[in-house]
Amino acid sequence: MGFNGDGTAAAPTTFAGLVSYAASHHPEFSTMEQYWWAHYAYWQNSIISTGLLAFWSHELVYFGRNLPWIVADALPSVFGRYKIQGAAKQPTAAQQWECVKYILLLHVFAEIPLMVAFHPICELFGLSVEVPFPTWPTIAGQIAVFFVIEDAYHYWIHRFLHWGPMYKNVHRIHHQYSAPFGMAAEYASPIETVLLGIGTIGSPILYGALTGNVHLWTVLIWVVFRQFQAIDAHSGYDFPWSLRHVLPFWGGADWHDDHHRYFIGNYSSSFRYWDILMGTVAGPVAGAKRRELKRQKEQARLAAQGS
Ligand SMILES: [Zn+2]
Ligand SMILES: [Zn+2]
Repeated sequence: MGFNGDGTAAAPTTFAGLVSYAASHHPEFSTMEQYWWAHYAYWQNSIISTGLLAFWSHELVYFGRNLPWIVADALPSVFGRYKIQGAAKQPTAAQQWECVKYILLLHVFAEIPLMVAFHPICELFGLSVEVPFPTWPTIAGQIAVFFVIEDAYHYWIHRFLHWGPMYKNVHRIHHQYSAPFGMAAEYASPIETVLLGIGTIGSPILYGALTGNVHLWTVLIWVVFRQFQAIDAHSGYDFPWSLRHVLPFWGGADWHDDHHRYFIGNYSSSFRYWDILMGTVAGPVAGAKRRELKRQKEQARLAAQGS
């Protein structure tokens, strides 16, 4: 949609003016679409427009989603009974603050360059920023696919991060907390942020490159969901109403807490099936099952040799 298309309206210069221009010329747009269009028209530079959207939505969601977890951690008498590793493992205020400072630095120095590069990458792979947005069923279907792709990528890269040299030099920072909490979700080396971030951003880019049908709006919503997933998985809380009780293949905090606690196993991000299929479920019960299976195999091998 451009200006003066009908030869009557002059280009508004303020953001509010652009919003009302979009509203009067395209009443069929939703409010969100009007704001989206006005945002791109206001900055007149897609790299800045996309970069600002990506950065601020990330900050807002990261710290906004963590607020309820910080409140829960500050009220162990109320929420302590839902804490997977017990109320004694609550993070201190100093640990929360340490994470806030580190993550702000990480976002500024490691993520801003990524976000500046984001729009050219989106354009290269044919992701759209035009209004109107895709329909909600399209958005929901694509996000479900991104969850599956990201989870597979995350499983293998996370396993790789547990390989000796990678662990020692990169992944150890993220494992500083054996009882994780929401704010620690992105507490990681910048190398890890980039490596695992490729899974989050790469999933829609790959899908867009293959289908030519992905909108940046869908990508932003997907990243919000992915942030919720990562923060909630690190929250340390398992409630009777947590998603894993509704979707048995969903990981959640119950799953990722065991990764931090036992250090080996549960490498996937959103779902459980990769670890189940690959025999890498964390914890003493799964470990005992693995050992028993190994023992049975060994016995069968010896029996075959003896016969
Ligand atoms: Zn790990
Ligand atoms: Zn973690």
